[in-house]
Amino acid sequence: MKVRTRFAPSPTGYVHIGNLRTALYNHLFARHHKGTVVLRIEDTDRERHVPGAMEHLILILEQVGLDYDEGPGKDGPFGPYIQSERSAVYQDHARLLVEKGHAYYCFCSNERLGALRAEQKEQKAISKYDRKCLTLSSAECDERLKKGERAVIRLRIPDNEVITFEDSIRGTISVHSNEIDDQVLLKSDGMPTYHLANVVDDHLMEITHVIRGEDWIPSTPKHVALYRAFGWVMPVFAHVPLLLNPDKTKLSKRQGDVSVEDFLAQGYLPQALINFIALLGWNPRSDQERYTLEELIELFDISKVNKSGAVLNKEKLDWLNHEYLLGITDKEFIAHAEPFLKSKAYAFPAGFKNFAQWARVEKQRIKKMNEVGEETRCLFIEPTFENPSLLVWKKSTQEKTVVILAELEVFFDSLPEHDILDDKLLEEHIKQWIEEKHFERGDVLWPLRVALSGAERSPGPFELAALLGKKVVCGRIHNARVLLA
Ligand code: GLU
Repeated sequence: MKVRTRFAPSPTGYVHIGNLRTALYNHLFARHHKGTVVLRIEDTDRERHVPGAMEHLILILEQVGLDYDEGPGKDGPFGPYIQSERSAVYQDHARLLVEKGHAYYCFCSNERLGALRAEQKEQKAISKYDRKCLTLSSAECDERLKKGERAVIRLRIPDNEVITFEDSIRGTISVHSNEIDDQVLLKSDGMPTYHLANVVDDHLMEITHVIRGEDWIPSTPKHVALYRAFGWVMPVFAHVPLLLNPDKTKLSKRQGDVSVEDFLAQGYLPQALINFIALLGWNPRSDQERYTLEELIELFDISKVNKSGAVLNKEKLDWLNHEYLLGITDKEFIAHAEPFLKSKAYAFPAGFKNFAQWARVEKQRIKKMNEVGEETRCLFIEPTFENPSLLVWKKSTQEKTVVILAELEVFFDSLPEHDILDDKLLEEHIKQWIEEKHFERGDVLWPLRVALSGAERSPGPFELAALLGKKVVCGRIHNARVLLA
């Protein structure tokens, strides 16, 4: 059997991190088994239609490196892969079920259904259609339809049966059929509901494994009933656990908190994000923390996905992203950083060359790209000294600091540029000089660092000096002394 999985999102305009994990697991499973990944757009709910949402979704998948074999924009033997372009297929299948006696027309008005629901609620009964239209003869239905009366088509759920399916993650799941509503399959405007379109397409597209979120478990018995009504073989189901907040509540649906777009905009690297979400609810049982997509494909085992919800721990993501940042080349780092620097209007000074040093300083200190430039702000923006006394180390005095700043200026002036641009070399020089002069380290290094950064906290003075270069360093030390004196 050739494995075929599908990712079947209803595009909403943004991609929920949980949906990205569903897409990823489908991807990992299919690729592990040398199978095919289908992208199918489930957009039959036209009221919720968001223009451009599909294109946007495809772009996000591309950005995080999840490709697909069949779907919109690609050839494939089972297209179109956009459900709103397949209405006729669903209508034919709904009618087929009516002919076979597994579905029926229902003419009940929304008012009647509303009243029925309210009554059932009051009686604390299961909310279910009462099958008023089940007894209508086909002649009567034809006549009413001909007159233009609006009707939906409902699935006739069998009575008094146990509906069972095997789930690769959760084992056997059984539901009594009497608890299941006669699900609407085709709406009165001729559009299918999710249930009909989903099952028909999974069958026609020869999907072998349905991997989706746990929130679809309540729908699956209806799908099982549909497979039976059509006389089709069912795919294998695997329902992956929900994502949770650290306090174990269900992860918010609020876009800003959980959208993949937002994670990317904060500057998490796509490969770090993929690595992180792969391990939400699944664990390759090793101490390794970083996995490439290829390694994940190699190791993925759907039956090892946990049953319980997976906590989305952002601190873990921060840590992992930092590890990824340390692992990328300086060139890659700078390429990722560029749009973030631009959005802050931070431009490298004219003639700046020490990019390797800059990348090293930043990489070690940031967790995600939107923090870039903050640690090395003094490279982009001339510091202002609102409070010059900050230049004085807590165990030192103003007089001493003024003297030392003057000495520092002379010292830096005597060093060749090359020795300043190398922070390790510079550190050696300064430490030696401090010893020769019998200064206290804090007396020298604190005012030097503050003179260069203008800030109470910053990277160390050697790292900063190597970024700024001789001319700027001498200028800032000079300014600091003048301000303090
Ligand atoms: N369109 C459904 C969704 O948005 C798909 C559920 C499924 O995979 O069956 O999640």
